[in-house]
Amino acid sequence: AKITEEVLSRTKFYKDFPRPGVSFMDLFSITQDPAYFRKVLDAFKHVIEFEIGRPGEAFNILVGLEARGFVLGPILALEWGLPFAAIRKSGKLPGETVKSSYEKEYGGDVVEIQKGILGPESKVLLIDDLLATGGTLNAAGELVRCCDGAKVAGSACVFEIEGLKGRQKLTMNIASVVMLRD
Ligand code: IMP
Repeated sequence: AKITEEVLSRTKFYKDFPRPGVSFMDLFSITQDPAYFRKVLDAFKHVIEFEIGRPGEAFNILVGLEARGFVLGPILALEWGLPFAAIRKSGKLPGETVKSSYEKEYGGDVVEIQKGILGPESKVLLIDDLLATGGTLNAAGELVRCCDGAKVAGSACVFEIEGLKGRQKLTMNIASVVMLRD
């Protein structure tokens, strides 16, 4: 409870960004202060180990979602001594890729991962900064499951917007540090 209040009081909200009616939680307000960023990362690691399981056992690779999953994912991966891979929007990754399309509020989108990174032995922990409706994580989960028998061990976000009920729609477990009402 203590870390929740502290994170909420120290994270900047931007009203009506990126469009009217939406409030934007800015992860980069946390990374400004190394001691505080450290604290949030420790809380993040703790909740992941509690909700998803032991690094190296419950999951053996971290996969970050563009773009703020690329900030959080590699740090945890290095600290746990696990590999990190990226899921990106269409057309950004070199070489052969596996693709998955999904519907968003306004039209569709495509996510990709490089071929050959995941296989039957892969137990993936998906990493992003924020869970809203769950559409993004579910698309990432579907993509992972298209990769040679790879499995989704779970997902993790620093923020979760409880009012949007993303957790109930997710096809995987989720670990989050902070719950926001709406
Ligand atoms: P969802 O697919 O509706 O769960 O939306 C989650 C995705 O949108 C994540 O990739 C987030 O990075 C992004 N997102 C939505 N709202 C916010 C916000 O308030 N701050 C930062 N990212 C957000």
